[in-house]
Amino acid sequence: MNKNINLPEKLENKIKCNNPRCITSVEKYITHTFYLVNREKGEYRCRYCDEIVKVMED
Ligand SMILES: [Zn+2]
Repeated sequence: MNKNINLPEKLENKIKCNNPRCITSVEKYITHTFYLVNREKGEYRCRYCDEIVKVMED
């Protein structure tokens, strides 16, 4: 177990939102902020549009 244990609770400017209508896709200088919602699945939720982005550790 202990899957994805090193994933932080919050990611800033590490990943990009997949939603083309998200404000982070429009505003170039906004901070891309994501919050961890599911550590086992490596799922982060966009602060601005609630899009889910998956991040897996190697
Ligand atoms: Zn977004």
